Amino acid sequence: PPTSPEGPGPMTRMLTGDRPTGPLHLGHYFGTLQNRVRLQHSGAEIFVVIADYQVITDRDIADDLLDHTHGLVLDYLAAGIDPARATVFTHSAVPALNQLLLPFLSLVSVAELGRNPTVKDEIAHSRQSAVSGLMFTYPAHQAADILFCKADVVPVGQDQVPHLEVTRTIARRFNDRYGSVFPEPEAMLSAAPVLLGTDGTKMSKSRSNSIPLSATADETAALIRRATTDADRRITYDPSARPGVSGLLQLAALCQDRDPHAVAAEIGDGGAAALKRAVTEAVNTRLAPIRARRAEYARDLSYVREVLHEGNKRANAVAETTLDEVRAAMGGFR
Ligand code: ATP
Ligand code: MG
Repeated sequence: PPTSPEGPGPMTRMLTGDRPTGPLHLGHYFGTLQNRVRLQHSGAEIFVVIADYQVITDRDIADDLLDHTHGLVLDYLAAGIDPARATVFTHSAVPALNQLLLPFLSLVSVAELGRNPTVKDEIAHSRQSAVSGLMFTYPAHQAADILFCKADVVPVGQDQVPHLEVTRTIARRFNDRYGSVFPEPEAMLSAAPVLLGTDGTKMSKSRSNSIPLSATADETAALIRRATTDADRRITYDPSARPGVSGLLQLAALCQDRDPHAVAAEIGDGGAAALKRAVTEAVNTRLAPIRARRAEYARDLSYVREVLHEGNKRANAVAETTLDEVRAAMGGFR
């Protein structure tokens, strides 16, 4: 197992992941991917779940599941996740993980599941006419994703904070009822916990408002050209009054490690067109090396399949150990 550069001590285990609903975007990159890679470099043990069952929380069919899954692995590799140090797996390939859902569901009330603000937001954007039971229970499934490997840190975006609270509640209640088995994991937020998309709402794979890491420079320019702005030619950073303009300024600022006010001042009276040109340039420059690495990895999908095969094998071993421990703690279950 990896050791931290600070020497021996309690070892950090990280779990986080993504739904295979489309390519990773800048919101992922600045919201969580960078923190995953930083944790990996600091010696933490890394688990990354491709949450395939969660795809069907808000749509009937998981379209292009395998393509999206392979795409996520390519995005991880391009961003710097190292399979020699990270376990990348799909949770549907790990039966013991899913079995944790049963005892975990017994530890939360229907009222608690119904109050979750992120679930409410996702219902509002759902593609289904009726809300499925899975939509309400997937935060408990996420608790299984996180606790099966006893992760203690979870780098996520703001939308995940309520879910992490569900996980912490489940861990605490399980420990109180059956004896101490699980850590209470902490969320790790980045400086950009909610990156806005080109329509001024949370950038999301499924909302046609994202700038994918894997887009070409021209596709990026086209996406940014379509972004919502306003008629005021003087560019200022004011997130509440000017969400569209400010979202774009934040993007450029993150890509250049600068302050958004400084980016705004530089554009001055140039208007939306100049702003969009500057943002496009900043994004394409920042992503060029990631895109080049991704293209290299994309030439050989057998490596991607191998990464998943190894990750699933390792995740299964960890999940089986935890499930045994859980059943023993609960007494009489097999
Ligand atoms: P979908 O629309 O299919 O739900 P998504 O873009 O919301 O896709 P997820 O797979 O649901 O992506 O989320 C993966 C991780 O990325 C989570 O930790 C989430 O908090 C983070 N994340 C997603 N979008 C953003 C964003 N716009 N800003 C910051 N973090 C984000
Ligand atoms: Mg989401």
